[in-house]
Amino acid sequence: MGVYDERPWLARYPEGQAHDIEPEFPSGLAMFADALRRAPDTEIVRYFDGTITLAELDRLSDRFAVALADRGFERGHRLATYLQNIPQVLIAVIGTWKAGGIVVSINPMSRTRELTTLLSDCEATALLAEEDLFGQVAREVVPTIPSLRIAWTTSPLEYQTRHDPRLFAGVERVRHDGTEDLSEVLDSVGDRTPEPVELGGDDVAFLGYTSGTTGPPKGAMNTHRNVVFNAQTYRDWVGLTPEDSVLGVAPLFHITGVVAHTAVCLLVPMPLVLAYRFEPNVLLDAIREHRPTFTAGSITVFIALMNTEGATKDDLSSLTKIFSGGAPIPPSTVKAFADQFGTYIHNIYGLTETTSPSHGVPLGGRAPVDEASGALSVGVPIFSTVVRIARDDGSDADVGEIGEIVTRGPQVVPGYWNKPEETENALRAPDGSVELKTGDVGYMDAEGWFYVVDRKKDQINAGGYKVWPREVEDVLYEHPAVREAAVVGVPDEYRGETVKAFVSVRPGQSVDPEELIAFCRDRMSAYKYPRQVELLDEIPKTVTGKLLRRALRS
Ligand code: AMP
Repeated sequence: MGVYDERPWLARYPEGQAHDIEPEFPSGLAMFADALRRAPDTEIVRYFDGTITLAELDRLSDRFAVALADRGFERGHRLATYLQNIPQVLIAVIGTWKAGGIVVSINPMSRTRELTTLLSDCEATALLAEEDLFGQVAREVVPTIPSLRIAWTTSPLEYQTRHDPRLFAGVERVRHDGTEDLSEVLDSVGDRTPEPVELGGDDVAFLGYTSGTTGPPKGAMNTHRNVVFNAQTYRDWVGLTPEDSVLGVAPLFHITGVVAHTAVCLLVPMPLVLAYRFEPNVLLDAIREHRPTFTAGSITVFIALMNTEGATKDDLSSLTKIFSGGAPIPPSTVKAFADQFGTYIHNIYGLTETTSPSHGVPLGGRAPVDEASGALSVGVPIFSTVVRIARDDGSDADVGEIGEIVTRGPQVVPGYWNKPEETENALRAPDGSVELKTGDVGYMDAEGWFYVVDRKKDQINAGGYKVWPREVEDVLYEHPAVREAAVVGVPDEYRGETVKAFVSVRPGQSVDPEELIAFCRDRMSAYKYPRQVELLDEIPKTVTGKLLRRALRS
């Protein structure tokens, strides 16, 4: 038995904390049904001055499921959401599960090219888009996706305006026989309820699109078991009860939003406070009004709150359980935040493939700092999880020895959607069992704390948003003046890393870096386009022609 199998980190768990947990429900739907039975009047969403109870969510999602089924949506079909953090996300999630389907949550920053790629890859049957996003981007994409039968939009919900009680008023359906208003569709469903479906632990609940360790977007198959397990993780690791409420700072399309916001609120059940999209002043108002107690999000959110004029210790006094993941946290930020607001930020670590956390700092624990790199520990492996550090030959590294972080546990996805080769490479051990090679480089100390000190993968981490260099390079190559392009992450004070492109120009051509930046900005999500472009005569390469990204980063 190796050092990792002995799980030295368990000694870091608080006294009395269970070491292992089992999923309590076969599916997210069963978890929802149980909460509904126990506490139907729970205000499950608080959105500005409006609320939805669990009982209302049940009724709305019943109608949503019936409307889907009426239009040919079947078990295993995919419904894509293209939404900000709005209440409709929960209706779509529960409604899709009730119809036996899989939710594919797409970043609302996605532009034409990105949306087309994802809808095609998952062969979506249905799309639910926010109305203005539909108008700007999705309308032209929808006719190009042969599998799409249903395209609905939500009513305009300007976040400055208060809660819109109509929820689905003004929703249209396109592509069949013109358009129709979903509020009428839902009304016409009346009291009909969907045919019951049995979902099990192996059924896919979400497809979380990620560049993973090898680039092109892939749908990580977050199963119902994965989702229920990590909802329980958040509940038990943080000690959440129905007295708590959650501030939704993570995007609901990202797996951390799915698990640390949507799923854990349905499990406990407890209210989820939403504020449309991340904007410090709007968020601060929501905190003042609703007094949430727990949140999990990227460190950039907490840095922004520190820099928000008028934010006081009193404002944040309810938020005593703060967790941050998705990107490295500078230890100085944890200290500055605690000095300003009196609350400690607990580091958590995981990937889309681990359905949010695989590691965390126990509540009340304090993460040690690695002296050599200055990196804050990402914590210790969570319940029922075994993590090892692997050498290049796959063998276990010694304590303190740097290698790749490799994770096993009930939260690890079984594979990527329709990508057997990538599944085999990233998610299978030699004996065929599920084991994730994270592409992150780090080590475990003698106390069982883990540290992430580097990456094997080329991914850029811009404040938690992941950018795959090839995607940006592909867009740059579409510009007629570009001969070669290499994209890397460079240090950035606010986002940790930002995107920089090195470009060489075709003979006889010239181009202004600003023009290339604008060219990319028009064609990709706001967090992806290069903030800096540097022109070089030659892009450095190895003798075999491989880009020398490391040389460009320094
Ligand atoms: P995603 O699939 O978008 O959740 O991104 C996962 C990646 O984010 C990991 O492979 C890490 O590179 C990075 N990451 C997540 N949490 C942390 C953390 N607490 N500290 C440093 N990097 C992190």
